[in-house]
Amino acid sequence: MWEERWHPLREEWVIVAAHRQARPWLGQTVERPTEDVPEYRPDCYLCPRNARSNGAVNPDYRGVYVFDNDHPCVGADAPDAVESPPRPYASRRADGFARVMCYAPRHDLTMARMTTPEIAAVVDSWRRETRDLGARPVVKQVLIFENKGDAVGVSNPHPHGQIYATNFTWKTFDTELEAQRRYRNETKRSLFGDIIDAERRHGRRVLYEDQHVIAFVPYFARYAYEVYVTPTRSVPHVSALSDAECESLARALKDVTVRYDNLWRQPFPYVMPLHQAPTDGGDYRDFHFFIGFLPPLRRPGTIKYLAGPEIGGGNFLSDTSPEEKAAELRALPTIHYREAKPA
Ligand SMILES: [Zn+2]
Repeated sequence: MWEERWHPLREEWVIVAAHRQARPWLGQTVERPTEDVPEYRPDCYLCPRNARSNGAVNPDYRGVYVFDNDHPCVGADAPDAVESPPRPYASRRADGFARVMCYAPRHDLTMARMTTPEIAAVVDSWRRETRDLGARPVVKQVLIFENKGDAVGVSNPHPHGQIYATNFTWKTFDTELEAQRRYRNETKRSLFGDIIDAERRHGRRVLYEDQHVIAFVPYFARYAYEVYVTPTRSVPHVSALSDAECESLARALKDVTVRYDNLWRQPFPYVMPLHQAPTDGGDYRDFHFFIGFLPPLRRPGTIKYLAGPEIGGGNFLSDTSPEEKAAELRALPTIHYREAKPA
């Protein structure tokens, strides 16, 4: 397989060269993630009752626990004045709020091993944080994401995500917003609605669908095992979802993360951003909220390195066929391998 596929949300071509997956690999590999994780660690800064580096002590929390990041990338303490550099350079003040969201008190859990109601509590917390932070005048966008696994640089397995509520918007979502507006203007149709329709018609890349939510490997996937999870109703922010939609989203997240862990029978790493519109009061009805799963591994222990094509040329070269990766995920059970009863 050797072709280019149009990524309509990024408005760029993805080069699919699936035959490269089998090439000999003598490069670096990452170790199999350990599953020998205790339920509580006295030295974990996210576990209940433990002290963090700034001296704050976590409460004895039972569900989702959100706190201000002790080492934020942006913060309300940003200096007011920034030095103006000479042309063509520019600078501006980076301001906002950064928070950490523990999904659960148990150190050894992952989303894949949480119950659907527990995941629904996480979704509800995303909703609340987006509403709360998005309503603040300084905040232009609420970026919520989870980095999971050593392969993406996260050494602490305690299940948690992060929130950056910033006085600026993020380029990926700017690009997606412009693409969706342009598509609306040119076709009078919804781009994301058409993506969902195309995935339903093809059918073989769909992993999950219920009354409110669909999950699929997109036709234009850049990463192996990349998955989109999205409400079928178009809303610009997670905060606009109903309780029923949140529950469906939780079921879909459970389904996808369990398939991921079952794939190689080991905890599966990913970067998982929520794609949301800005929160500055503008008209964002063309923006369709969704969640993306971007996995760094293309095979067990083998990282998809970004190199000449991606870093150098700026286009993605995918070593895998989205249809093949979807077929692998679709064939897996939706009961987690550590919870399955022995045959
Ligand atoms: Zn912990």
